[in-house]
Amino acid sequence: MNDVIRCRFAIVGGGLWGTSIAYHLADLGVDDVVIVERWDIADGSSWAAAGFVGQVRHRRSDVELIKYSAGLYAELESAYSGSTGWGGEGSLRISYTSERSAEFSLLAEQCTSLGVPTSILRGLELAEIAPTLNLDGVDSALWLPTDGSIVPEKLARMLASGATAAGIQVLADVEAYRFDMKAASISGLESSAGRIVADHYIVAAGMFTPQLIATAGIGLPLYARQANYVVSNSVPDDRLRPLPTVRVPDQQYYARAADSRIAVGATRRAPVFALAEDVPNGRRAHTNAITDLGGVVPDAERLIPALAEAGLSHAVTAFESATSDGRFIIGPTQVPALTVVAGGQGYGVAAAGGIGRAVARELVGAPAEVDLSDYRPSRFGSAPRSVDAALLEDIRQSYGDRYRIAAVQS
Ligand SMILES: Cc1cc2nc3c(=O)[nH]c(=O)nc-3n(C[C@H](O)[C@H](O)[C@H](O)COP(=O)(O)OP(=O)(O)OC[C@H]3O[C@@H](n4cnc5c(N)ncnc54)[C@H](O)[C@@H]3O)c2cc1C
Repeated sequence: MNDVIRCRFAIVGGGLWGTSIAYHLADLGVDDVVIVERWDIADGSSWAAAGFVGQVRHRRSDVELIKYSAGLYAELESAYSGSTGWGGEGSLRISYTSERSAEFSLLAEQCTSLGVPTSILRGLELAEIAPTLNLDGVDSALWLPTDGSIVPEKLARMLASGATAAGIQVLADVEAYRFDMKAASISGLESSAGRIVADHYIVAAGMFTPQLIATAGIGLPLYARQANYVVSNSVPDDRLRPLPTVRVPDQQYYARAADSRIAVGATRRAPVFALAEDVPNGRRAHTNAITDLGGVVPDAERLIPALAEAGLSHAVTAFESATSDGRFIIGPTQVPALTVVAGGQGYGVAAAGGIGRAVARELVGAPAEVDLSDYRPSRFGSAPRSVDAALLEDIRQSYGDRYRIAAVQS
């Protein structure tokens, strides 16, 4: 096919972020949009995600983006049952120390001030919400009834089908090769389906973003980071539920019921970092070799006895996009008509709904509902550096320090 494809917006990437942007453009009445996806919907990082949707974050705009997402996922699930796998089970953030509990009180205040319902639970009240947990030694828990979990692939497909129902095209199995530049502007996008000419280009290509934007002369400090979680064998329903999603910052893990199994992931335990070009470049590239997640599994087994009884079935270990300062990259670049949306780093599923809406509104000139200034590419200066081996080493070293300070963000 060598025809020129013309459209108002060309989105590269059919992951959760690209499909959410398309869904929200359709919602704003814009259908002259194509999504260019080199494999199929969700085949990058999105399919691999554990599906946690948690609204507790330190950054106000993060909370606002995720709050919108949680509402959207619940709404889509109630309108189209089974479409997103939204559980609506709420979340518990568990504290074993009075210091951590004091921190939870501050987080609760921030969430409440942003309209996210929270409460601090102890004793019987806590046992009622989480009868399947072993609460020995627990000091308190932060309860968010509007948190939950989804099945990321189902959600991405739901968003894509919402967009296509409105007339947006998904070009699956089409790879975007490079931007053609005329002076300092984009004259087209070369792809395996031919040339695409759009009024505006949005690169939402996850961990592969750096290679594509480099062809437009843009460097941004994006790299790839490995994330993983283990999955138990089947657990009888009465041993498993009710189980809110659980996060334990003191022991750096999180867990949730996933169908009839339990998924447990570790936060910030010596993750593997990679340059974008060194990431295994295959469809759904991952391994499922069981890991002890840096030693957190015994802690999780103590809190969730059904996990110990069931034993582990497999793990999911895959790469995702991350940024040098731990914040998303969302917004226009120095190249006219080119927006970059990347760097999901562990909470891109949770934020996808809010990001899609915010970006779509910005693209059509609708008033902003969330302040995106913390996420702008311009924060890295006028000629940002892309990540090379030396910068990756700096990032690796500062990562541990950063998250020792902000360990509650898991
Ligand atoms: C193991 C694991 C667990 C996770 N758990 C959670 C969780 O519980 N909660 C949470 O909120 N987040 C989680 N995440 C993070 C989350 O998965 C990501 O932040 C999110 O999926 C990012 O979506 P995306 O659309 O930006 O990227 P992707 O899903 O990677 O989508 C990018 C798409 O672009 C396509 N693409 C790339 N280059 C090109 C090109 N040149 N031409 C055409 N197409 C191209 C790719 O094929 C891909 O489909 C987890 C991640 C991993 C790896």
